[in-house]
Amino acid sequence: SLTVGSGMGAKRGILIRKGEAIQTMKEIKTIVFDKTGTITKGIPEVSDIYSKDERTLLSIAGSMEKLSEHPVAKAIVKKSNLKRFRDVKNFKIVRGMGVQGNIGNKKITIGNEALMNANKISLKEFEKKIVKFEEKGQTTMIVAENKKILGIIGVSDTVKDESVSAIRQLNEQGYRTIMITGDNERVARAIAKQVRINEVIARVLPEDKSKKIMELQKSGMVVFVGDGINDAPALKQANVGIAIGTGTDIAIEAGDIVLAKGSLIGVVQSLNLSKATFNTIKQNLFWAFFYNVVAIPLAIAGLVNPVIAELAMALSSISVVTNANLLRGKKI
Ligand code: ADP
Ligand code: MG
Repeated sequence: SLTVGSGMGAKRGILIRKGEAIQTMKEIKTIVFDKTGTITKGIPEVSDIYSKDERTLLSIAGSMEKLSEHPVAKAIVKKSNLKRFRDVKNFKIVRGMGVQGNIGNKKITIGNEALMNANKISLKEFEKKIVKFEEKGQTTMIVAENKKILGIIGVSDTVKDESVSAIRQLNEQGYRTIMITGDNERVARAIAKQVRINEVIARVLPEDKSKKIMELQKSGMVVFVGDGINDAPALKQANVGIAIGTGTDIAIEAGDIVLAKGSLIGVVQSLNLSKATFNTIKQNLFWAFFYNVVAIPLAIAGLVNPVIAELAMALSSISVVTNANLLRGKKI
């Protein structure tokens, strides 16, 4: 059954790395999704800029973000279209918040509201614009020079085609679906609305994702679906970790199941496949035991001709293998 089940998964791009996952899946109550790269494509693009001097803003932001690997950073670098980058000194990454560094004698801070608050940079007239960008689902980066804001950059990341339908099917099957992200509440809500996910846990620092999973595990078994370097601890912590195969190697290494295609329909299929496989295993166990419990005493009592007994033994194995193969016909 396991061989047939894994084979069926493999055909659909579902790689089951840990066999136990098949058994655990039937107990799952809650499915938690990372946002960026899991529900969304993870290739954000700059879609809105608000600044008095857009060229200077992009030149500063592009030079800074060149030093960061974050997807939003890449979007900004691409948009800035710089041929020559400014010199950045003392560059540092503030995980889950943004970046800081010096250009000339100015201190540049780029990141979210939390980073601005931490540096006592007031948002002033930008506040309303930020809310507008975020309500459209754009992750908004604030660019500040010393304590003064130069402008804001809105980055949007489109939802994957199949995310909506996958989440709908999971909701219909009665699972509790949750989205978790380092992004803020407004952006998270906007994306959650597009995919009709019930619950949102926003503003989670990278190192806290696995803690949130642990809390959710108090009310039942949890699947976590993620793609990023940040997601590896949560993938390990969850009862079943499903890694997006188009994501980072570190996430793939941490997953119990890997979805080679990156589509969330794979989550629905993994759950259905695991249930079907496990049911077949149970049926096989029943028939194998039942058969032997009845037939062995008969044989001992001398009521069965040894040749017939031999045949019956073979038939028992064939029935189990046949039943396992019937699994192939199941719709997942
Ligand atoms: P996610 O869970 O969506 O992948 P992260 O925890 O990586 O988010 O980051 C959270 C937030 O921190 C981002 O939405 C962004 O606002 C800000 N941020 C992170 N890295 C950068 C960066 N290099 N430049 C600007 N902002 C950043
Ligand atoms: Mg991600």
